[in-house]
Amino acid sequence: MVVPCYNEAEVLAQTHARLSRVLASLAAFDCELIYVDDGSADDTWDVVNSLAKKSGSVRAVKLSRNFGHQAACLAGLREAVGDAVVVIDADLQDPPELIPEMAALWRDGWAVVSARRRSREGETLFKKASAYAFYRLLNTLSDHSLALDTGDFRLLDREVVTLLAEAGDKSLYLRGAVSWFGLPEASVSYDRDPRQAGESKYTLRKMLALSRRGLLSGSVAPLRLTTYLGAAVLAGGLAAAAVQRDARLLARPGAFGAQALTLGIVGEYLHAVFRQVQGRPDYVVEERLGGRAQLGPSAP
Ligand code: UDP
Ligand code: MG
Repeated sequence: MVVPCYNEAEVLAQTHARLSRVLASLAAFDCELIYVDDGSADDTWDVVNSLAKKSGSVRAVKLSRNFGHQAACLAGLREAVGDAVVVIDADLQDPPELIPEMAALWRDGWAVVSARRRSREGETLFKKASAYAFYRLLNTLSDHSLALDTGDFRLLDREVVTLLAEAGDKSLYLRGAVSWFGLPEASVSYDRDPRQAGESKYTLRKMLALSRRGLLSGSVAPLRLTTYLGAAVLAGGLAAAAVQRDARLLARPGAFGAQALTLGIVGEYLHAVFRQVQGRPDYVVEERLGGRAQLGPSAP
């Protein structure tokens, strides 16, 4: 199990207790918990340390700063050595009790078992509505189908973990990449609980960053949109100029807006290319608890 944590000190002991109970019930499997501290500013790392002291099946990595949820998940996936890995949020919004059912499906041969949110408790109307609309928009624009209403709470077979760990994509959008691989995917449904303590660590800014990443990495539709938009504005301007016999109509402010939008979208893709060319690591590990993985893609 990989648990990305950003300022989760308040909830972590509770999360650990519930995860441990579930792991104890999975007697047929050899399990380990990997906490990834994504540069928390609170006591998260201390809490992780004390949990690791009490329990043998805990490993942890501390990232040098806040690299974001996707990078934290990736760090955990690279640490993990299991035949299957479950990524789960630290705030108990994803019920760990679902893991045995996911593991059973994995045993039946599914490479990916995603957990679909049937309902979302205790989240703002804005969050629910924007997530609902976003996943559908992304699905329409992407050239492959995406599991709707799922987050990163899912079980991934070793094959998928290796593909992700070695993808080398600096703007990796995990959910999108997993569907892009196209391996057999099953899903289980659940009602998403409210966060058990603390507040959402996904600020509006982080939500926007994640959705930009999802859109840009999964689709060139936004880029294509700029072509159509440009063509439409040009055609409109030409038509108006022809009807009114006035060439100045070509320089309407609307054209400026379309141009600015177009430039912005091109710029976003350029930014992604720039990040990729820079080739910096996805994150930097500052500290490790419980030793380094013996197997797995990131092992020396
Ligand atoms: N998280 C992280 N890095 C960040 C933001 C969030 O590792 O920069 C973790 C967070 O600790 C949690 C998960 O990502 O385990 C989901 O975040 P959160 O619950 O705050 O998001 P929400 O459920 O509100 O969308
Ligand atoms: Mg949450």
